[in-house]
Amino acid sequence: MRLILLGPPGAGKGTQAEHIVSHYEIPQLSTGDMLRAAVAAQTALGLQVKDIMARGDLVSDDIVIGIISERISASDCANGFILDGFPRNVPQAKALDALLIEKNIALDAVIELVVDTEILVDRILQRAAQSSEARDDDTPEAIRHRIQVQQPAPVATHYGEEGILQKIDGMLSIEEVSTQISTILDKI
Ligand code: AMP
Repeated sequence: MRLILLGPPGAGKGTQAEHIVSHYEIPQLSTGDMLRAAVAAQTALGLQVKDIMARGDLVSDDIVIGIISERISASDCANGFILDGFPRNVPQAKALDALLIEKNIALDAVIELVVDTEILVDRILQRAAQSSEARDDDTPEAIRHRIQVQQPAPVATHYGEEGILQKIDGMLSIEEVSTQISTILDKI
């Protein structure tokens, strides 16, 4: 099973991906987590993206496409994967399309968590308060900037045109969203 979870920052993609990982036994590929790990390890990549991420801007397409290309070729992705936080824009979505064609594999579903952007800042601040790991980009300014520049609408339209987009109301409870995702995935 190969799927993408779409939604703005704070929509609950990470939480839902965790449920899917344990239920369907496929890895979650979060470009945000991978980039944060690079920053924490102070690798050359980490140093390159640290400030960009702290501001809430997107890192370059080449970087994330390179990361994903390598990651989906790993043996633990043989039975599928969940992409969380990638693709973030249409050029990334098109690069992913080309990558999948090259590997002769296809996406099974793209699920968009639709949320009210007004409440996202509060949600992210709440998540930050409950988390043991501080994120440089969890300041109110960076959060607003992330929400502004990282709207998933163009990517959702891309997959809508490909006929594989499914929308879920991300304002429902975590359990309800999870049930709706399972209903979609169990049909695949
Ligand atoms: P996330 O954990 O998905 O909210 O991502 C945290 C940050 O990592 C984002 O604000 C971006 O700076 C960067 N990032 C993650 N995924 C991508 C992507 N697909 N394209 C560009 N930047 C990304």
